[in-house]
Amino acid sequence: MKYDVIIIGAGPGGIFSAYEFAKKSSLKVAVFETGGVLEKRKCPIDGKKVKTCIGCKPCSIMNGFGGAGAFSDGKYNITNDFGGTLYEYIGKEKALELMNYVDEINVSHGGSGTTMYSTAGTDLKKRCMQNKLTLLDASVRHLGTDINYVVLGNLYKELKDSVDFYFNTPVEKIEIAGEGYRIVTGSGAYECDRCIVSVGRSGSAWLESVCDELGIETKANRVDIGVRVEIPAEIFADITDELYESKIVYRTEKFEDAVRTFCMNPYGSVVNENTNGIITVNGHSFEDPSLKTSNTNFALLVSKHFSEPFKESNAYGESIARLSNMLGGGVIVQRFGDLERGRRSTPKRIEEGTVRPTLAATPGDLSLVLPKRILDGIIEMIYALDKIAPGTANDDTLLYGVEVKFYNMEVALDHNLETKHKGLYMIGDGSGVTHSLSHASASGVFVADRIIAGK
Ligand SMILES: Cc1cc2nc3c(=O)[nH]c(=O)nc-3n(C[C@H](O)[C@H](O)[C@H](O)COP(=O)(O)OP(=O)(O)OC[C@H]3O[C@@H](n4cnc5c(N)ncnc54)[C@H](O)[C@@H]3O)c2cc1C
Repeated sequence: MKYDVIIIGAGPGGIFSAYEFAKKSSLKVAVFETGGVLEKRKCPIDGKKVKTCIGCKPCSIMNGFGGAGAFSDGKYNITNDFGGTLYEYIGKEKALELMNYVDEINVSHGGSGTTMYSTAGTDLKKRCMQNKLTLLDASVRHLGTDINYVVLGNLYKELKDSVDFYFNTPVEKIEIAGEGYRIVTGSGAYECDRCIVSVGRSGSAWLESVCDELGIETKANRVDIGVRVEIPAEIFADITDELYESKIVYRTEKFEDAVRTFCMNPYGSVVNENTNGIITVNGHSFEDPSLKTSNTNFALLVSKHFSEPFKESNAYGESIARLSNMLGGGVIVQRFGDLERGRRSTPKRIEEGTVRPTLAATPGDLSLVLPKRILDGIIEMIYALDKIAPGTANDDTLLYGVEVKFYNMEVALDHNLETKHKGLYMIGDGSGVTHSLSHASASGVFVADRIIAGK
């Protein structure tokens, strides 16, 4: 079977590429996807019979039509300030134009009626500036889990007649075949002139082996490490009511490191996350009022960039998380007041505090786990946030550790997101260029448009 274009991966990157081809060209296009169709994606965790991850292969949360974001909160951040570095390849203006274009498609496929939040002209922006904090600029389309699902369903309905979808068909190999490529799967090989690889985080390890085989350079040099902060929701209500989620950055006085807020969950819960058997911390919030708590949580993260010869940034982050697991048997929780006084938290001190933890973590001492530079930065940031949200630096504020944000390797690409092999493109989170729905989707539109234009 021969196609003009084969897309590997049906996450936002792959879907929006396919959408462009279907709408603007007559090219013969196929999409190969490890997971299944949208309506067959069901995670078996029901909180009763199945309480934790049982390692399904493929995983319904990460794989299938819609990719990793199919069951997400569907927050499409339209900004160059975070969510990826697409603008470094295609320019800031183009990146924003494409993110807005993706938004229009989402809105016209079921997303009308959802809210677009914006930081522009907010009172919070001014308060941040006055206190040496920077509120990153963004417009955020909050689709919500339910509407995100509706939009994906509508996109599939529109695409399925003009694009060949091969579900439950992981690609095993990409081979160079003359001027094009041979895509090898368990059920046969397919040829194409152009190949767009959009395999996301779940396909990152596989993509690394593809790059090795095809002599494409990669690098991995970043990991974000920090804690999750939990406070009474009232303390942050002014901020979360205005923007739902804000990304605030602080440059520390001591080391001039950037510490930033990440993944804010108003009235949410702190949860465990299992990464390769290592327990780290994360947070959730629910739309359902019955599942809301009286606390807000968010991460404070410090980015660590390594230079040559060190290449194992993710392993570094894992080692720190492993240390917290060794000391606490899992996630450690500490009162901010105990951290400041140089003593561990105990069950009694947590019990006597005014903030009720939403996660059963082990009371302990985060200073035995986090490198001094990172911990100093987090403490400085908590005092900075206290100026815009008084109470953040209260003794009873809870800190959970360790939160780690791992990054995919970065693939060497040119300004067309094309590898050194002509006609072989790598986009979305798997390429390391993006880490968000909007950037991944925009990268898909961009490459499709370049191919259609014959560039
Ligand atoms: C729970 C959760 C919530 C999130 N919430 C948000 C949010 O609110 N806002 C936001 O901006 N971002 C969010 N993200 C991140 C967002 O989902 C990703 O940035 C985005 O999905 C990346 O798109 P992608 O197309 O690059 O990759 P993915 O969405 O990961 O899609 C890649 C697809 O490729 C397939 N694949 C992998 N390997 C192969 C192979 N060898 N052969 C065939 N197919 C393959 C996978 O099965 C997958 O379906 C969230 C992520 C998760 C997990």
